[in-house]
Amino acid sequence: MYIELKSVSATNKGAKAFLRSANKKMLLDNEWVDAAKGGCIDSTDPATGKVLTSFPKGSAVDVDAAVSSARATFESGIWRTMLPAERAKILWKIGDLIDANIDELAELETLDQGKPLGVGRWAEIPGAAEQFRYFAGLCTKLESSVIPSSIGYQPAGKRIHSYTLKEPIGVVAAITPWNSPLILNAMKLAPALCVGCSVILKPAEDTSLTAIRLGELCIEAGLPAGVLNIVTGYGHEVGQALAEHNGVDKISFTGSTQTGRKILAAAKGNLKRVTLELGGKSPMIVMDDADLELAIPGVANAIFFNSGQVCVAGTRLYVHSTIADQFYDGLADIAKGISLGHGLDQDTQMGPLVNAVQAEKVDGYIKGGVAAGATLIAGGGQGGPAGTFIEPTILANCNNSMSVVRDEVFGPVLSCINFDSRDDALALANDSDYGLAASVWTENLSHAHCLAADLQVGTVWINSHLMFDPSLPIGGYKQSGWGRESGLSAVENYLETKTVCAVL
Ligand code: ADP
Repeated sequence: MYIELKSVSATNKGAKAFLRSANKKMLLDNEWVDAAKGGCIDSTDPATGKVLTSFPKGSAVDVDAAVSSARATFESGIWRTMLPAERAKILWKIGDLIDANIDELAELETLDQGKPLGVGRWAEIPGAAEQFRYFAGLCTKLESSVIPSSIGYQPAGKRIHSYTLKEPIGVVAAITPWNSPLILNAMKLAPALCVGCSVILKPAEDTSLTAIRLGELCIEAGLPAGVLNIVTGYGHEVGQALAEHNGVDKISFTGSTQTGRKILAAAKGNLKRVTLELGGKSPMIVMDDADLELAIPGVANAIFFNSGQVCVAGTRLYVHSTIADQFYDGLADIAKGISLGHGLDQDTQMGPLVNAVQAEKVDGYIKGGVAAGATLIAGGGQGGPAGTFIEPTILANCNNSMSVVRDEVFGPVLSCINFDSRDDALALANDSDYGLAASVWTENLSHAHCLAADLQVGTVWINSHLMFDPSLPIGGYKQSGWGRESGLSAVENYLETKTVCAVL
């Protein structure tokens, strides 16, 4: 596949200045430092393969320093005992500073990750700001309970007074992936900081730039030293060291199920708490009464948004056989009309994948699907200057035993299967190791709510897909993870419950 990329470069003053400034550093105690052992990792533009800048290649030595700093800060109480209203002001200010620097952050994200500028500018960067504001609001609303216990052996004439205290868990390591860097960092930092934890952030090695910029904004907002430390570097070094470290009380991880298993194994030493937001293989069920004007573009967006690099992307389409041909024609027209290009090019609707390794992996799944009997009805090509572009791809005549249908592909590849009854569709959709999300497309209330109840997933969208809000919990059933992010209950990931039972 040949792609002619228009020559584009950063236009935002802030983004240009950030990229031009000396090599980026890691954040330790509100100071910007190099890796203790030296060494840097290049940050490249995935569309062109060109080097943008570089950042420190951290190691276990840097992890030790970050954990000591986070621990000392936590014990000092400067953050966890700060008046909740004061913590709230700082979190709110981080949100406002993200908004104030929105164009710069969106450009940096596009250059570093590849996504079309509008995805960052209008969805992910404002979404990150909203995460901080949502959890800023919660700082002053974290309540505990007084419990009417029924203990029968209390001393005569005495009373029992029992209650719970919610306490921050301590030092949190947040390990994040490369598909939507800033908002996924925000989804961990905001609730952890809300309850008073200290956090060590380890961004993905492919996309560390906006995490470093976020660190600068946190300092500007007044976050005390050591409450947030950032250690950049590779997963098998920095991530692994954090997961193993006895000074870390909690790992909050978003990434692949495979890496999630490694983190779980590494975390067992001190039995640290673990939250996992892992892979998905989200089904979309289109009933024969669906509003096709809504469903066809909705399904296309669910798979092609962010080049399919979304944990909850709609990757399996189950469509009623009576409307299947019409549906595939509509989908194929959309897929063939999507313009690929550099994310900073205004005409681009879909950017590259994050790196060539990922593109090769996705290409392998497409070829494997075709070899197993699937019919390619759109796309299938790989190309671009760095080999990172994959065309929007649709495979019809799939079945649930194909790898492209069972595995998380993390690219713009839709696998399609026809069904004849609602029960069949449900059984096919639930036949997966994953359980992150699903969507149901129908005008019939019974279909909608019965399927919503019976799908084994953490989120069900009806007549939509990819609707996010800081108030809506997100997370997985089955091998898609442990725990939920966003929403009121997300703070529980970062809290311990203490029970106090007093004889008075
Ligand atoms: P993907 O497989 O989608 O490339 P990963 O799940 O491997 O993504 O990566 C998500 C995050 O996990 C990244 O920040 C990465 O550096 C980190 N990571 C990778 N391997 C490990 C590991 N063994 N221990 C801890 N973190 C890791």
